[in-house]
Amino acid sequence: MPSPEADSRRRMPQTPDQKEYMRMARTLISMRYAEPPLAFVHTYGCQGNVADSERIKGMLREMGYRFTDDKSKADLVLFNTCAVREHAEDRVFGNVGALKPLKQNKKDMLVVLCGCMMQQPHIAEKIYQSYPFVNLVFGTFAVPRFPELLYRVLSRGRRVTEIGETAGEITEGLPVERDHPFKAFLPIMYGCNNFCTYCVVPYVRGRERSRTAAAVLKEAKEIIAGGAKEITLLGQNVNSYGKNREDGVDFPALLRLINDLPSDFRIRFMTSHPKDCTERLLDTMAACEKVSRHLHLPFQSGNDRVLKAMNRGYTREKYLSLVAYARKVMPDISITSDVIVGFPGETEAEFLDTLSLIKEVRFSSLFTFIYSPRVGTRAAALEDPVPAGEKSRWFTSLLKAQEAIAAERSADMVGRTYEVLVEYETKEGNGLLSGRTGGNVNIDFPGDRALIGRYVNVRVTEAKNWLLKGELA
Ligand code: SAH
Ligand code: SF4
Repeated sequence: MPSPEADSRRRMPQTPDQKEYMRMARTLISMRYAEPPLAFVHTYGCQGNVADSERIKGMLREMGYRFTDDKSKADLVLFNTCAVREHAEDRVFGNVGALKPLKQNKKDMLVVLCGCMMQQPHIAEKIYQSYPFVNLVFGTFAVPRFPELLYRVLSRGRRVTEIGETAGEITEGLPVERDHPFKAFLPIMYGCNNFCTYCVVPYVRGRERSRTAAAVLKEAKEIIAGGAKEITLLGQNVNSYGKNREDGVDFPALLRLINDLPSDFRIRFMTSHPKDCTERLLDTMAACEKVSRHLHLPFQSGNDRVLKAMNRGYTREKYLSLVAYARKVMPDISITSDVIVGFPGETEAEFLDTLSLIKEVRFSSLFTFIYSPRVGTRAAALEDPVPAGEKSRWFTSLLKAQEAIAAERSADMVGRTYEVLVEYETKEGNGLLSGRTGGNVNIDFPGDRALIGRYVNVRVTEAKNWLLKGELA
């Protein structure tokens, strides 16, 4: 693993080389297969991974692949993996193991593993030693070089592992195969410099690098021209956008520039780090009519000693004051968060501070995690005396408290009308659609599939726990 200080500036080959590799791979593939070969791509983890997979699929398409949801029909199976918790990694190992019989039946099927988990040397080594049927392993740093790596596998028939030491500069111009026509992810920055002591992300995603405002705006315009109604700006810490670059566009300024693009669409973004979340950002959100009234602001812990041990860079008081300011300038804002229970050395009294914070803030929804030690992080070396059973009792009490809050918040929504973006039919053919409000809450309502991808007004008629039902208004 690179040290926190490791430089991330080694140059990667630029797009033209990769275009050439895509062309060479396409030729090889057209000679090898009578029909276009099929790829099965599965993504684990966060939206950053989903966005990477959209680029990987774009490159696969360019090389001649088409896509299937059925692994057993696939000529190439690719898993884009997540390393953030042990559970995520265990699932990947299980699912990779399950490919073995498939591969025995279909010897020329290619198995490709990539993403955050593979960026860790001890994992890449384990895959190499224990899963000999895996053809290609590459880490997040090598995503732009996927065509070259796949070409090496196809042309030489040998296994390839590429996890390089450092992330390169951002490669622009990769083809993108987007998962949805009406909502799109738009990465604005990559990597993270924060080194929260529990977190593996800075090690597996490298140092923070922002795309230029020009590149982001160009892609935003393409997305809008393609008919999308919602753009989600992505980064591990979007508030750090533009640091270390000279064009003077920081995150609030970028938000303003995108908001001012003509056409009817909504803007979302994630994730915001409380240490870098400023009143200026919240004022900008309030002033931008296309920015959804939703702020995902992970707090992780409600106790100052634990926050310090996590290296989060803010206090409980600072967090609460940000929430209060956001609600002052945007009374209808929906605030969501992430929290970790059972950080090494956390006491019950400290956990109770977390519980009291969620009751005080009353989040719209919460992503709750039990601490999971990650190889190479500082927290992994700390003493962790609290037994797993105790942590899971704390966790359950936190879930219960949040469920009660969510149920009350949902009940408050009954009788009100919300504009939603219609996203999908809840089950194929059942005539029940699901739409998402600006505040990131889903409401199910009866309607015609033709509404998918459009904004409609829905009146909430019923709240069952956190499940909301409604009708077209
Ligand atoms: N960059 C984002 C979060 C990325 S990871 C941020 O700083 O908010 C997503 C969430 O996973 C984190 O917010 C945290 O709550 C959780 N998480 C990260 N590492 C973890 C670990 N080792 N154990 C348990 N949860 C973890
Ligand atoms: Fe991980 Fe912290 Fe960076 Fe988020 S800000 S990705 S939690 S190190």
